[in-house]
Amino acid sequence: MSFAEARTAGSPALSVSGLSKAFGGVQAVKDVDFQVAEGELLALIGPNGAGKSTCFNMLNGQIRPDRGSVKLSGEELVGRSPAQIWRRGVGRTFQITATFPSMTVAENVAMVLMSQARELFSFTRSAVNRHRAKALQLLDMVGMAGQADRPCGVLAYGDLKRVELAVALGNEPRVLLMDEPTAGMAPRERVELMGLAARLAHELDVAVLFTEHDMDIVFSHADRIIVLSRGELIAEGDAEQIRSDPLVLKTYLGEGQVYGQDKKPKD
Ligand code: ADP
Ligand code: MG
Repeated sequence: MSFAEARTAGSPALSVSGLSKAFGGVQAVKDVDFQVAEGELLALIGPNGAGKSTCFNMLNGQIRPDRGSVKLSGEELVGRSPAQIWRRGVGRTFQITATFPSMTVAENVAMVLMSQARELFSFTRSAVNRHRAKALQLLDMVGMAGQADRPCGVLAYGDLKRVELAVALGNEPRVLLMDEPTAGMAPRERVELMGLAARLAHELDVAVLFTEHDMDIVFSHADRIIVLSRGELIAEGDAEQIRSDPLVLKTYLGEGQVYGQDKKPKD
């Protein structure tokens, strides 16, 4: 059994079926079915406008689907609010502007832990310190424990992204959604962040769904890949299968197709 098959053989954390959404006359997502297993890093790829972000926003409750079902370990999520879905264990990485630049890295993570424990009403320095141990443990997971006492405002962009990941892990998610997590990052930082996401998925048994434009990163990190084109899933498989899929080659990866920020065809 290949690695990818071993992963998909795990129990599905998230099961999506018949997911559909139209905006006016545009069918952004149409009858999309897929599952993400515990401990699996699943890449959702496709050209700009394919419907990837709309899918993510339906999974986390920000957009209500026209049709379809999203089940977390068998429990229906469609119709629930983003906060309810988040509390049930569907985490997502946010824009890092959500952190407080003058507070330290550890304090920022502790704040999230407090909000999870619904202790924000008693926000004091001593309360933050009570959550420090857990914050440091999370920062250690993302390789940021050494910078715990630096203000968030002075961190490099790639390091902020790691803190963002630690914050998302604070909710002990069963599913983690990452829509273009490496946007704006340098190539080396991108590889490192996706390597980290893969390690966390495998070690913590979290189901991770992510989008990424750099196909080298997708092919080297994802356990399995699904391809969206004009709102519909057109392929599913491991890197080798996706690389050689005729329909994927024609619609997305083929010569002259724009699929990566660094790979735009010359004018
Ligand atoms: P991707 O993330 O793959 O680039 P999106 O999910 O953002 O694609 O968009 C899919 C399609 O839906 C596009 O045609 C886009 O213009 C349209 N779309 C997305 N969000 C909205 C919206 N809020 N209102 C109207 N059209 C939208
Ligand atoms: Mg998008």
